[in-house]
Amino acid sequence: MDSRSKGRTAVEVGADGVALITIINPPVNSLSFDVLYSLSENYEEALRRNDVKAIVITGEKGKFSGGFDITGLGGSQERKPKPDSMSVDFLSDVVEGAKKPSVAAVDGLALGGGLELAMACHARISTSSAQLGLPELQLGIIPGLGGTQRLPRLIGLSKSLDMMLTSKPIKGEEAHALGLVDAIVLPAELIKTARRWALDISEYRRPWVLSLYKTSKLEPLKEVREICKFARAQVQKEAPNVKHPLICIDVIEEGIISGPRVGLRKEAEASQVLSQSDTSKSLVHVFFAQRATSKIPGITDRGMMPRQVNKVAVVGGGLMGSGIVTALILNNFPVILKEMNENLLQTGINRVKANLKRQMAKGTIPLEKFDKTVSLLKGVLNYESFKEVDLVIEAVVENIVVKQQIFTDLEKYCGPHCILASNTSTIDLTLIGAKTQSHDRIVGAHFFSPAHIMPLLEIVQTPQTSPQVILNLISLAKKIKKTPVLVGNCTGFAVNRIFFPYTQAATMLVERGAHPYKIDQVVTKFGMPMGPFRLADLVGFGVAIATAKQFINEFPDRTHRSMLISIMQEDKRAGESTRKGFYLYDEKRRASPDPELNKYIEKARSISGIAVDPKIQNLPEKDIIEMIFFPVVNEACRVLSEGIAVKASDLDIASVLGMSFPAYRGGIMFWADSLGTKYVCSRLEEWSKDYGGFFNPCNYLAQRAAQGIPLDADTASCPYDALKTWGQYNRGCL
Ligand code: NAD
Repeated sequence: MDSRSKGRTAVEVGADGVALITIINPPVNSLSFDVLYSLSENYEEALRRNDVKAIVITGEKGKFSGGFDITGLGGSQERKPKPDSMSVDFLSDVVEGAKKPSVAAVDGLALGGGLELAMACHARISTSSAQLGLPELQLGIIPGLGGTQRLPRLIGLSKSLDMMLTSKPIKGEEAHALGLVDAIVLPAELIKTARRWALDISEYRRPWVLSLYKTSKLEPLKEVREICKFARAQVQKEAPNVKHPLICIDVIEEGIISGPRVGLRKEAEASQVLSQSDTSKSLVHVFFAQRATSKIPGITDRGMMPRQVNKVAVVGGGLMGSGIVTALILNNFPVILKEMNENLLQTGINRVKANLKRQMAKGTIPLEKFDKTVSLLKGVLNYESFKEVDLVIEAVVENIVVKQQIFTDLEKYCGPHCILASNTSTIDLTLIGAKTQSHDRIVGAHFFSPAHIMPLLEIVQTPQTSPQVILNLISLAKKIKKTPVLVGNCTGFAVNRIFFPYTQAATMLVERGAHPYKIDQVVTKFGMPMGPFRLADLVGFGVAIATAKQFINEFPDRTHRSMLISIMQEDKRAGESTRKGFYLYDEKRRASPDPELNKYIEKARSISGIAVDPKIQNLPEKDIIEMIFFPVVNEACRVLSEGIAVKASDLDIASVLGMSFPAYRGGIMFWADSLGTKYVCSRLEEWSKDYGGFFNPCNYLAQRAAQGIPLDADTASCPYDALKTWGQYNRGCL
């Protein structure tokens, strides 16, 4: 292979008259431009040669194809046009319309363009473990190689809509049951069976099916319209801010009503437009940013191997500890859980069982896995068995004295190689380990609640934490299906720190005349799962007040002190748990407005002495969003300039996975860049004149705005070089 080319296909003609075309583009045999040019050349050759009767397409090393190579769709990059060989006509006219039959031999992945290529073949043979799907919608685009037309014709409209709208792949067995594949065979039999099948088609022993013209699986037209109407209502409810799911439904419906050729044309036009959309740019950015969180200068580029973590101990079986245990055992790690007494231990174990049962009810884990998963957990009341573990995660109450004692004990009982991690949300890790000699193996493993569900793991390093320890934890995070983001040690780490101005800005607006329900409604419309006041109810006022105190102490220059939540708490309203907070809650935890809320707002205003500002009272929605989220952007800039985060895109992932900031806006920094640093900074300056230092843009943001540099631009071009600050964390290995 030419060292500059990105993949190819190879053709080999057997004595049986079958041309075997193999896609070769590790690691997932993606359909790069080079692969597609090569594929069309191989096809021309196979169709031309007289000794070829039929064609089998497969992928090297047990992977059919992971789909179209999306590196060309990079977030903010210019997007290249697709080559002709990537056109829908190639699949329809050359592959499907050929005079020689093609059979796809599918193992491993057949996703996106990979499945579209397989569907253009005249039959598909698969292994039972193969994964087949059209996940394009998660990147803000729609299948663009005929997938919107062929999938409904192969498996019916309802199921194909489900597969495309959820972006979820199905396994070979299900694909067979649905009619997407024609036969299931063992991997060792795959190519042999596909060859035979292809010859059988060419010799009229098996049907020569053109998926594009199959109608037997399609629902009657009236039903088609009903199904599409229902699907539109669903997606409008679930994803009101994005257009591509609706466009996908339109394209599918058009193809069924007006015929597949019309559908293909509409699909091509829509694909072209969507691939240039802001939504797609944002989602593709998130896709790559998520993969980039584990590329860390000075840590993952040293050629070090992560060391195996075989057994884990968790100290504390409360809300977080039980969630962490659940995440570990669900991913087959044996775990020791330590609690203070038999009662608390049993409560912790019961919490883990309840978590597992809820996963079972959702179908995430099969019934028969329950006992086996629970058997991985052993409860203890002392540290005797801790010598066997490679990692301890402490998740006890947020109390420095208790945590210091535990770390002193851990140093005594655990082996010298064992990683000592804390799930603290606020306490300085250096203080937690102050009474030990184990500073190089002390690290933060900050899970988010519920720990077995939330996909983010903040790995918190101190200047002493060893790179090897960080690498080991990154590796563990991936094994338990979390996205690791490495951050430095500071109050709130990355997520809680950058989002503390979120609630603060919202309360400031309320004191000046905005209404909490209006704010929640606008923020939800923007794409957050809930607004700041509904979130405060969920988290509970106890936690909200304690956290606010930490930030007020740490960053007194930029905190807004409001008594609103404290006043409500004094009146026995503590949020959802007391069924009264900013909202009232029924027994099913459904929120409804409470007219009494105004009383507390009035009182808070009179304490703070802030007068209602008619401008804030009638703030347009756009301004509400900006006044709440620009302070978040500002804090994220501070986090970056202090070297707490490695790169801007890590903060995008932290905001999307830790706070559910809408992925289709690309994360907090990408979103700010889409508006422009100049604009963000000028608005903050304007508000800081009217409403004080809370809005003051930080130096990092001001510098970038002055120079017109985006927040995610290479830091080398900026005087505030986060990577240089980051250097303080790069030390020797364990
Ligand atoms: P929790 O009160 O629900 O649980 C703490 C548990 O630790 C209790 O079951 C207690 O019995 C146990 N414990 C106390 N001392 C112990 C000891 N010496 N040995 C063994 N067990 C002991 O608290 P939580 O909400 O699970 O929080 C635990 C930690 O996780 C805190 O540091 C907190 O800041 C952090 N955290 C909490 C959240 C959250 O949303 N609650 C999120 C991220 C991190």
